[in-house]
Amino acid sequence: MNQNEKVIEFSAIKKQYGNFHAVKGIDLTVHKGELFGFLGPNGAGKTTMIRILTGIIKPTSGNVLIKGYDLYKDPDNAKSRIGFVPDRPYLYEKLTPLEYFDFMGGLYNVNKNQVESKGEEMLKLFDLWDRRNELIESFSHGMKQKVAMSAAILHDPDIFVVDEPTVGLDPKSLKLAKDFFRNLISQGKTVFLTTHTLSVAQDLCNRIGIIRNGEIVALGSMSELQKKASLPGNDLESVFLKITEEEEQEKII
Ligand code: ATP
Repeated sequence: MNQNEKVIEFSAIKKQYGNFHAVKGIDLTVHKGELFGFLGPNGAGKTTMIRILTGIIKPTSGNVLIKGYDLYKDPDNAKSRIGFVPDRPYLYEKLTPLEYFDFMGGLYNVNKNQVESKGEEMLKLFDLWDRRNELIESFSHGMKQKVAMSAAILHDPDIFVVDEPTVGLDPKSLKLAKDFFRNLISQGKTVFLTTHTLSVAQDLCNRIGIIRNGEIVALGSMSELQKKASLPGNDLESVFLKITEEEEQEKII
C-alpha cells in the first residue's frame, strides 16, 4: 500500500460569492490512508471546500485532483472515487433502506449483488437490519445518518467525505461510526471529515487542518498542532481555540 499516494489535491482554490471571498487560495493535499479532519469556526469555509471537493460547486479559480484525476477535465473518473455524506443528507423518505440502496447503486452502476451484500453488511453494522423494510420517513435523524453513510459506501469509494458525521448519533452509534471510519482506513481508504465535535476529531484524526476566514491557519498531527499553539499535552479544544483566537487577534492588531 503506497501511503504517500496523493488522493486529494486542492491547488490554489478560491471561491467568491459576489464580492465575498469565502475561500482565499487553499493548497491542501491528503494522502491515502489518512483520516483527515477539516475543522474551523462557523462560516470558515469548510462546507464550501467539501462542496468543491465533491463537485457540487465549482471554485472561482484553482484545481482539484482526485486520485490524480482532474475533477473538471475527467469528472466521471474523479467523482466515482468519492463517497459523500452531507451534513443534512437528502434521502428519499418514501423508500425503505434497501430500496434506497438499490436506487443509489443504480446511480453508480454498482451490480445488484454488491449492493445487496454491502447494504446488508452496513445495516447490520449499524443495528438497522431489523428496520430494513420500513420507510426512511419513520427513522430518527441518527438512523437516517446511518442509512446515508451506508449508501455512500455501496460503490466502494476510495475516499469517504463526511460533513459532520456524528451529529445526532447516540454514544453506541458514535462508537460504531468511529470504528467504521477506522476500518475504512485499515482497508487503505481515506476519510475526509468536518466536525465541530473536537473530541471526536482528536480521537479519530491522524492529521487536522484548521480553516478560518477561508484560509488554512494550521495543519498537522495533534502533536504538531499542540506545538504550534505552544500547548503541549493539551486537548484539541484548547489548541483549536488558541489557534483560531490568535488569528483573530492578529487581524484586530
Ligand atoms: P459552518 O461550520 O457554520 O457550517 P462552514 O465553515 O461550513 O461553516 P461555509 O458554509 O463554507 O462555512 O461558508 C463560508 C462562508 O461563505 C460564509 O460566510 C457563508 O455565509 C458564505 N457562503 C456560503 N455559501 C454561500 C452562498 N451560496 N452565497 C453566499 N455566501 C455563501
